[in-house]
Amino acid sequence: MKAMILSQMCSMQENKKPLKLVTLPDPVPLKKEILVKVSACGVCHTELDEIEGRTPPPVLPIIPGHQVIGRVAKAGGRASKFKIGDRVGIAWIHSSCGICTQCASGNENLCARFRATGRDVNGGYAEYMTVPEDFAHPVPDTFSDMVAAPLMCAGAIGYRSLHLTGIQDGQNLGLTGFGASAHLVLKMVRYQYPATKVFVFARSAEEQQFARELGAAWAGDTETSAPEQLACIIDTTPAWRPVVTALNNLKPGGRLVINAIRKEEADKQALLQLDYPAHLWMEKEIKSVANVSRRDVREFLQLAAEIPIKPEVQEYPLEEANTALVELKERKIRGAKVLRI
Ligand SMILES: [Zn+2]
Ligand SMILES: [Zn+2]
Repeated sequence: MKAMILSQMCSMQENKKPLKLVTLPDPVPLKKEILVKVSACGVCHTELDEIEGRTPPPVLPIIPGHQVIGRVAKAGGRASKFKIGDRVGIAWIHSSCGICTQCASGNENLCARFRATGRDVNGGYAEYMTVPEDFAHPVPDTFSDMVAAPLMCAGAIGYRSLHLTGIQDGQNLGLTGFGASAHLVLKMVRYQYPATKVFVFARSAEEQQFARELGAAWAGDTETSAPEQLACIIDTTPAWRPVVTALNNLKPGGRLVINAIRKEEADKQALLQLDYPAHLWMEKEIKSVANVSRRDVREFLQLAAEIPIKPEVQEYPLEEANTALVELKERKIRGAKVLRI
């Protein structure tokens, strides 16, 4: 099969072609696994974190990609959930141990043996991949393969973030950063919490305008104070300064949920401006969101079909994965980037 592999971590400033096109033997499914013929794979910021070493793959080379849509091509000896040809989606969660207290309580995303698709095991930047059948998800018919792919990550993690805020209908919600995940969260909020006002903090005027078009009550720069105090804020930026600003915008008892796999080091000094009375006193909380569970993926796909949520998609052939990654890094974003395979 054809695959794009990462064999060495590097700075994308210096190396604009971190992935190489190679031909590999088709993978063979284990007993409880299925082999999936990949048709679409979304391109995510997390791939940049893997390539640049902020969330390093434990073993190289690796095939990245964790927003995968494809069809079952073969089933392992003890896999019986799907028929050959069934369409499935594969998300960031490739597997977990299934027996620890975290797994038993539904928090499999926090399992010590959580394995991530495209980082800990080979992912979807390839013609084929394998996955335990219990971790493959049926995809609602509403979506084409290309449109379904970006829902597998940005949508599912956005769904989890929103639920971790504990928001109630009518409470003010802030979104700091307005990328793929945040704009899907805005659509979910408009549907699930119609009385909630959403305040969007984004760097560019275009993003702010886009937020208003999607129904944000207010949109402004990441550094500004919101016109009203906010009950919860979701931060999807890679930086620290927006965390300090967000804490200032929270009302007493408010919660900041940080949805970022890693924060960059560049502006860490901003944390020295943390002022206890303004930013943390009055029971303000900070919580991160880690990975996704299968339940997040499945519930989100159902919700997305119901609303419906259909992301704008920009297509690239598999061979041009490097171009898609560079454009993502340079914030040349016109919809979610998806490889057609
Ligand atoms: Zn992702
Ligand atoms: Zn576990």
